[in-house]
Amino acid sequence: MRQVDHFIVGDSPAPSRKHQIWNPSTGEVQAEVALGDAALLDQAVANAKRVQPEWAATNPQKRARVMFKFKELIEANMQSLAELLSSEHGKVIDDAKGDVQRGLEVIEYACGIPQVLKGEYTQGAGPGIDVYSTRQPLGIGAGITPFNFPAMIPMWMFGMACAAGNAFILKPSERDPSVPVRLAELFLEAGAPEGLLQVVHGDKEMVDAIIEHPDIPAISFVGSSDIAQYIYSRGTANAKRVQAFGGAKNHGIVMPDADLDQVVNDLSGAAFGSAGERCMALPVVVPVGEDTAERLREKLIPAINALRVGVSNDPDAHYGPVVTPEHKARVEQWITTAEDEGGEIVVDGRGFTLQGHENGFFVGPTLIDRVTPDMKSYQEEIFGPVLQIVRAKDFEEAVRLPSEHQYGNGVAIFTRNGHAAREFASRVNVGMVGVNVPIPVPVSYHSFGGWKRSGFGDIDQYGTEGLKFWTKVKKITQRWPDGGGDGSNAFVIPTMG
Ligand code: NAD
Repeated sequence: MRQVDHFIVGDSPAPSRKHQIWNPSTGEVQAEVALGDAALLDQAVANAKRVQPEWAATNPQKRARVMFKFKELIEANMQSLAELLSSEHGKVIDDAKGDVQRGLEVIEYACGIPQVLKGEYTQGAGPGIDVYSTRQPLGIGAGITPFNFPAMIPMWMFGMACAAGNAFILKPSERDPSVPVRLAELFLEAGAPEGLLQVVHGDKEMVDAIIEHPDIPAISFVGSSDIAQYIYSRGTANAKRVQAFGGAKNHGIVMPDADLDQVVNDLSGAAFGSAGERCMALPVVVPVGEDTAERLREKLIPAINALRVGVSNDPDAHYGPVVTPEHKARVEQWITTAEDEGGEIVVDGRGFTLQGHENGFFVGPTLIDRVTPDMKSYQEEIFGPVLQIVRAKDFEEAVRLPSEHQYGNGVAIFTRNGHAAREFASRVNVGMVGVNVPIPVPVSYHSFGGWKRSGFGDIDQYGTEGLKFWTKVKKITQRWPDGGGDGSNAFVIPTMG
């Protein structure tokens, strides 16, 4: 059986524990990944400490050249990366390419590191005094990533961290760890020094070792909210800088004047694409007014019934299986919970099997109407191909629903009314807002981050925010007294006047 090992400098000891990697389309175990421990992390940290100072001292233009080369290698390997990703995750090849592409865009941003790292300078802040600020790397950064974007999210993190002069230790999801390793191999091939980017596999044991490690000053985490909160609180208690992004339940508000054909088309992708396993998926639709709800429901049903579920390398499939058998059972249980709570199961995806792939982890597309805010199935994240309709009586209620939800990752409003859209965008208590855009993931030169239980910490991912996270600001106040030769050039501590 294929073995996925750590990607660190030096030999890694034979693992005492391993984790099975499924092929979600066939339901077969296709590989095993080694699970590491604190001793393995120590080895990776020692390697990183050896290489990081020289990398930090390498001029930013040379570091950018490595990023440029890495970008070229990813482009050249796009197809094979997408196939590997799709075989372990289950998302269809086009979605897998999108996963790589969105990470690549952060690498493109990181190619501009000489420009964004330039810092600030004030000449003449006092008599003969200049002040400047520079951003210096933190040392060794760690990233702990989820299964659902095994290419994009690691690149969000190490792309910015390494370009800024840090070494990086990545702990990817144990469910689909092969692409992160492949990315690290390509980064080395691009000219990154050996040990700059290492991949350690593991579960809670490895995560705890990272949280406790005295030589790792910063952790970036993306995953579910309880674990995000755990890592944030333990990490910050250990005086680390931590950003920890969690789960989501994004709402799509549909105003009475919205173009419903466009909305249905957008929802087909945003609610069901990637089997709903996206933190920026749109699993809740909020039609405003009964008439809007009825018209929307009528159009949604045939569109959902027309979705094609298939194996991950089926070019015609709209979406593939979910990631594990446990996750399939969990999603189906949520549908049952919604039914028990009084939701109306309009299209039922439970018990779905794909002919010829009866053991695959498929869940059929599901539509649940008459969902209300008191229901557990509304309050929690389902993370599957399930769309819930929550009917709002007016605009105010539509603003309130996502604003009061425990998660605050993304939200969208569909309308032709600019005033309603503007009002909504400014008032809603959610981090990322789309106006007639169903999945409002900001481009790489802005930044990504949800609010409330979708994001713990103060600094977003990528863009200038990513740069802030992976660097610390040094402020230098300098004065060069005239060494005039009359003995009066003794250094005086400047006082600013
Ligand atoms: P997860 O929380 O199960 O795992 C994330 C990481 O934490 C993995 O590397 C895993 O090994 C580790 N981990 C798991 N259990 C742990 C424990 N008990 N202690 C310490 N570490 C542990 O998440 P997942 O199922 O891989 O990913 C899906 C979740 O991620 C969803 O909730 C989704 O919304 C969220 N997500 C959020 C964003 C965002 O930007 N907000 C992006 C993608 C995914």
